[in-house]
Amino acid sequence: MEAQKDFKVTLAERSKLKDISLENIPFGKYFTDHMLVADYENGKWQTPEIVPYQSLMLDPSLAVLHYGQAIFEGIKAYRLKDGSVKIFRPNDNFKRFNASAVRMQMPEVPEAIFMEGLRKLIAIDKDWVPSNENHSLYIRPFMISSDAAIGVRPSEKYKFLIILSPTGPYYATPMRIYAEEKYVRAVPGGIGFAKAAGNYGAVLYPSAEAHKKGYDQVLWMDAFEHKYVQECGTMNAFFIIGDKVITPGLEEGTILAGVTRDSVITVLKEMGFEVEERPLSIDEIIEAHKAGQLKEIFGTGTAATIALIKELKYKDYEMAFDVTQWKTAPEVRNRIDAIRYGYQPDTHGWLWPV
Ligand SMILES: *Cc1c(COP(=O)(O)O)cnc(C)c1O
Repeated sequence: MEAQKDFKVTLAERSKLKDISLENIPFGKYFTDHMLVADYENGKWQTPEIVPYQSLMLDPSLAVLHYGQAIFEGIKAYRLKDGSVKIFRPNDNFKRFNASAVRMQMPEVPEAIFMEGLRKLIAIDKDWVPSNENHSLYIRPFMISSDAAIGVRPSEKYKFLIILSPTGPYYATPMRIYAEEKYVRAVPGGIGFAKAAGNYGAVLYPSAEAHKKGYDQVLWMDAFEHKYVQECGTMNAFFIIGDKVITPGLEEGTILAGVTRDSVITVLKEMGFEVEERPLSIDEIIEAHKAGQLKEIFGTGTAATIALIKELKYKDYEMAFDVTQWKTAPEVRNRIDAIRYGYQPDTHGWLWPV
């Protein structure tokens, strides 16, 4: 809490909130009145500032524009049924952010800037947290290299920012997925585990190709054999086979360690499921399907929480499901939502006060 004293705060003269309705607001289009900016210079973090939301002035030689040292996070804050505002597991995002920073040769952001910055910024823009059902405030912390020089080397200057975006319900319609055999998202030794901007730029083309074939997303597979499943688009993937739940393990560094993934594993175990984190091959999935044992497939992530997968195609083999019969994934989503919106006690310490 001490660190708050060090923040410089300049408030907006007028709130934009007067001009818009937060009801059913689309994801990622509207931003609150304020943002946080902290600069890293001369080997240390400077005093963070909360300022009115505004454009950045970019030198055309800005390092990030050329070599892509850029990382981000995605977190949500919810308005609980008692009216209070809580942030969902931000400490896990904070740790993951710094793991991404290390991998991208960027400076780690101190807790006093990331965590306190988050709280202070949300406290100032609290009225922007929607109170409607299934609405939330999406929080986007990110960092870019900000040297104005085009030599290929780690930057000496960095900018850490947090912006906030109110968001309506994300109607995750059941998805059609295509098991990708040509393009890969992540390789051992690469940056798959980091929330690096480049990971996203690299998947737009294969995703667009999948769209052309009539699929919503791709199921990424390992780079060597195109056999072991990794993630589904930009979500972690879960497969219920028989009475076990299987999700790819994190050891290889090719999977982004989702906070939702971890929450879902916790809730599944509480529901009595055995959850295995291990390599899972497409052959095992197909065999399970043929044996009538492939029960549910879903993706997890902060934006949608859980997205059901109604169709999975691998080569010429198509697996289609009647998701209306599924019980487990919807139940997990309901349980997590009940905690987020304050309908069930937060026994895991997932909700952080603002
Ligand atoms: C962010 C992300 C996820 C989901 O992580 P959450 O912490 O659950 O939001 C999964 N896969 C990829 C590739 C991601 O970037």
